[in-house]
Amino acid sequence: PVSGQPDYLERLNPEQRQAIETIDGPLLILAGAGTGKTRVLTTRFAHILLTGHARPHQILAVTFTNKAAREMRDRVGALLGGPVEGLWLGTFHSICARMLRRHAEYVGLTTGFTILDTDDQLRLVKQVMEPYRVDTKRWPPQGMLGVIQRWKDRGLTPDRVTPAEDSEFGGGCARRVYADYQARLIAVNACDFGDLMLHMTEIMRTRPDVLAQYHRLFRYILVDEYQDTNTIQYLWLRLLAKRAGQPSNIACVGDDDQSIYSWRGAEVENILRFERDFPGAKVVRLERNYRSTAQILAAAAGLIAHNDGRLGKTLRPGREDAHGEKVQVVSVWDSDEEARVVAGAIERLRADGHPLSEIAILMRAGFQTRPFEEQLMTRGLPYRVVGGLRFYERAEIRDCLAYMRVLAQPADDLAFERIVNVPRRGVGTAALQKLHLEARQIKGPLTAAVARQMADGTAKGKSKAALQSLMQGFERATETLAREGQVVAVEQLLEDVGYLAMWREDKSPEAPGRLDNIKELLRAIGDFQSLEGFLEHVALVTEAEDSAAEDKVSLMTLHGAKGLEFDSVFLPGWEEGVFPSQRSLDEGGLKSLEEERRLAYVGLTRARRRATVLHAARRRIYANWQDAIPSRFIEEIPADYVEHSGQAMQERRLTAAQPSVFAFGPVSSRRPNYGHAPRVTDVYDASPTDITVGTRVFHQKFGYGIVTDVDVDRLQVQFEKAGEKRVMASFVEVAV
Ligand code: ATP
Ligand code: MG
Repeated sequence: PVSGQPDYLERLNPEQRQAIETIDGPLLILAGAGTGKTRVLTTRFAHILLTGHARPHQILAVTFTNKAAREMRDRVGALLGGPVEGLWLGTFHSICARMLRRHAEYVGLTTGFTILDTDDQLRLVKQVMEPYRVDTKRWPPQGMLGVIQRWKDRGLTPDRVTPAEDSEFGGGCARRVYADYQARLIAVNACDFGDLMLHMTEIMRTRPDVLAQYHRLFRYILVDEYQDTNTIQYLWLRLLAKRAGQPSNIACVGDDDQSIYSWRGAEVENILRFERDFPGAKVVRLERNYRSTAQILAAAAGLIAHNDGRLGKTLRPGREDAHGEKVQVVSVWDSDEEARVVAGAIERLRADGHPLSEIAILMRAGFQTRPFEEQLMTRGLPYRVVGGLRFYERAEIRDCLAYMRVLAQPADDLAFERIVNVPRRGVGTAALQKLHLEARQIKGPLTAAVARQMADGTAKGKSKAALQSLMQGFERATETLAREGQVVAVEQLLEDVGYLAMWREDKSPEAPGRLDNIKELLRAIGDFQSLEGFLEHVALVTEAEDSAAEDKVSLMTLHGAKGLEFDSVFLPGWEEGVFPSQRSLDEGGLKSLEEERRLAYVGLTRARRRATVLHAARRRIYANWQDAIPSRFIEEIPADYVEHSGQAMQERRLTAAQPSVFAFGPVSSRRPNYGHAPRVTDVYDASPTDITVGTRVFHQKFGYGIVTDVDVDRLQVQFEKAGEKRVMASFVEVAV
């Protein structure tokens, strides 16, 4: 380099360079989307290492997603010319999990503690609520979990929730439920996601020796997406950053306009408080956006200008290439056409040589992906749903994981409960209740209670034989684990206890797929050094992180897209009630509407070259078609940067003069019903119009069944397991 600067600094603008070369002391980088905040953070990481200020494991770097963590690890590796080991780099949760394993005993856990998934949490909170006789119709356990989670987000342990702060929820027992829930977690040696932060913060608050250890360890702290930290994350960071007699070497980057997680307790005030928290903090602003074209940038800036109370930032185009295209706004008739238009546009992009990995469809809510998936699949366009129904959330995978958890930790009662009667082995509710009683008496886990009942002859009959063979399965697997490793042990276990046989004998069409998933799971375990290591990985993966390098269209929510960028971005469903969401409108407050607007801003600013916004004239809400009004956000984009189209809609309007019930009416009335014999239909090709008497359908709650009667939007279905039921047509899918 001419100036004698290292190469990696050459490619930055002066403000960015300043942010990187300010190594010591608190630093806040406050800047709009695409200004290189994340890039600065990454380069700063490398710079600290290259200038010898710290060794790799002495830097704590917090990202918002595992994906971002991986990107940062790759970028640092590239800058340093090879992979770097032992980094404290990851999400708040993954870093806390790693810390907590070292100090688990301070909160009454052992180092092998389990991290629960939401199923387990729900089961646990249900159990805990039982003695309080809460009316669960009015106050469902999910809601109670939400209350507890919000307390955790605010850093409140049960003893810190004052009576005044007790929630209305549950009619005044929430605080006690919270305390009981925490006690149960400790008893089964587990913690939920929120506990990772809560426990670690608590330990650092009360154990100066532990805190001092981390003060010595972490010389530098880097935090991305600081605007979305919640109170507990903020407290945790502050504890780590404030070192007696030493500078707080904490660098945070953020953008108040992209704060989109207040519903999860994020406090944008944290960013505003930074200078007060860390006196002498240097604040750097970056103004040049290197991501998007000038048109997209101006559109996004015009939109976000409708929010009040912003810190206010300038954004100037930093890219030298042309002005770019205007933001396209396309009016479509309904969500099917919307999906067709988007898929068609993607087909054309691909034909023009654009890689699919540079294309994203970003929606307001997860459930919106379905029509897009169908269209992409029909046209043979590969895609991935990021953060959709993840691999690890599938029932068969959850079952296997539960078996593995019991194998790794026999005290894991929640996992044991999940599998004790899967496959069915005749261990009913009564038998399980007896086990619980026994466990309470011996103050041990359920597996110990089983052993006890076997020994003293309490267990009888069918459930005795069943439990015995189950426990033998675990014993054999434990031996195999020590001898031959986790892959062989787990496979043997699943075979021994009859779990694999259950799916082999299952005649339903999806059973082979489930067996494939299990095979895939067994393969994945082999990539880890231990069963525990694998289970930890699974508990912490929060998005589909696989195959990121493959050439696929990305489908995800706007929330999940934070920090990412794509050449082409499609933004469907910009209608009042969808985006902004009905909920934000119902709440009526300016605050929630402004958060929706920030979300729209995040969406637009993900695009490098092309942004396409779509809105439909009609949308089906459950079984009813409703007229939809274009989102106010469309009008808020300055007209100069927008190009409207929607020929399709006008054409359709003409044809819509025909009896509309046929074209757009409730699902099942659209096609005359001749009482067909059962048909085999590919689930992806079928639209709900294909539902007639005899159609095999799938219902989320009741499973598979055959339609026996159709009445406008209601179906009579004979379900295989649940018996005959009347259900809404829009709640079922046509099954294979
Ligand atoms: P967001 O707010 O969306 O998280 P960000 O501020 O973190 O955005 P980055 O993702 O770091 O922005 O950068 C946006 C894009 O601009 C990236 O592709 C990055 O490589 C590029 N970029 C950043 N700085 C420069 C620069 N000085 N010269 C050229 N490209 C740059
Ligand atoms: Mg970023």
